[in-house]
Amino acid sequence: MNIHEYQAKNLLEQFGVPIPRGYAATNTEEIQSAISDIGEAMTVVKAQIHAGGRGKGTFTDGYKGGVKVVKNSEEAHKAAKQMLNNTLVTAQTGPKGRKVQTLYFTEACDIEHEYYLAVVLDRESAQSVIIASTEGGVDIEAVADDTPEKLIRMPISPTMGLRSHHCRSVAFALGFEGQQVKQFSRILTGLYKMYWEKNAMLVEINPLVKTKQGKLLALDAKASFDGNALFKHPDINNLRDLNEEDPKEIEASNNDLAYIALDGDIACMVNGAGLAMATMDIIQSFGGSPANFLDVGGGANEDQVTAAFKIILSDPNVRGILVNIFGGIMQCDVIARGIVAAAKNVDINVPLVVRLEGTNVEAGKKILRESDVALTPAESLSEAAEIIVQKVKSTV
Ligand code: GDP
Ligand code: MG
Repeated sequence: MNIHEYQAKNLLEQFGVPIPRGYAATNTEEIQSAISDIGEAMTVVKAQIHAGGRGKGTFTDGYKGGVKVVKNSEEAHKAAKQMLNNTLVTAQTGPKGRKVQTLYFTEACDIEHEYYLAVVLDRESAQSVIIASTEGGVDIEAVADDTPEKLIRMPISPTMGLRSHHCRSVAFALGFEGQQVKQFSRILTGLYKMYWEKNAMLVEINPLVKTKQGKLLALDAKASFDGNALFKHPDINNLRDLNEEDPKEIEASNNDLAYIALDGDIACMVNGAGLAMATMDIIQSFGGSPANFLDVGGGANEDQVTAAFKIILSDPNVRGILVNIFGGIMQCDVIARGIVAAAKNVDINVPLVVRLEGTNVEAGKKILRESDVALTPAESLSEAAEIIVQKVKSTV
């Protein structure tokens, strides 16, 4: 689960990481009070979306920059008006962009240098890794691609945890001296503690800045948490912003369905994550493009199958549906009844191809045959994929 910059910075502050004073706002009243709380100082107005690259982003109406440094409160109001409810497109949002529904106002500071600092779960080494660089800021992706030697990587053993010598090594590698080594160690300690205690998968500060006054501050932060650990952290779960999530994915999680929306036009309804992946692959290999990943799970009931159809059909891109069920624990007749029940509740107005195999397959096929649901049965997965791809192509 991802959270907004302002939320990540408030959390970091609780763990002793210094951040500039700031206020979040979602409507005109809150904007008014946030700007007056900052006062007549240089202010940074920041669009809050769950995507990075805001500084270099452009709004769909042509307004440039989701991060604006302004001179006074009048300019802050102007920037806020431009950004709120406008759609920001960045390198990470995709071409459709994200609607900005929250703004963050912070006191600006005089930057002398921008650093990068993060703790991330590295699946390959099965350890947490500190990543740091003197080349922080908006071009960090290019640094990682072109000059990866400029990234410092320090794995942290999960049993030993972060020690003061780790902090000093990273601080020296970043070129800090004297008092700044202490400041940096405090920041890295807080960052790691937040990452560890809150079951995060990533906590990133970019940029971590050294101000002209010699102070280290976190100017931007990103945090991502392990969804399977959220039950331990109601405080983190409360930070969830449903505006940032696909409504279809929210509806799916309410029905205990594993669903991820994709860009294609053939919806898949499958039981089991592996079979779902194989189904997506085979659609691609016949020249089609999957509209989603949907795993109804091992024990789906009629209600869940109906909910799954509703979610699939609420996607305007869907031009065909492939149901691929291998009945193991799941029984084919249950799925068949689910399909028939769903067809009564929702108008399935696109071609539907169904392939059933496994437990109670004959009973399942009989239910489908005797119903008046318009569908094409298929015997094998490749036959099913071929038929649905052809049907969708012929409707263009
Ligand atoms: P991102 O583009 O989504 O990563 O947003 P950031 O919050 O990282 O802001 C982008 C850039 O704006 C930073 O790398 C800074 O160079 C600049 N910036 C952000 N806050 C301040 C500030 O308080 N003062 C100044 N002078 N620049 C800032
Ligand atoms: Mg940033």
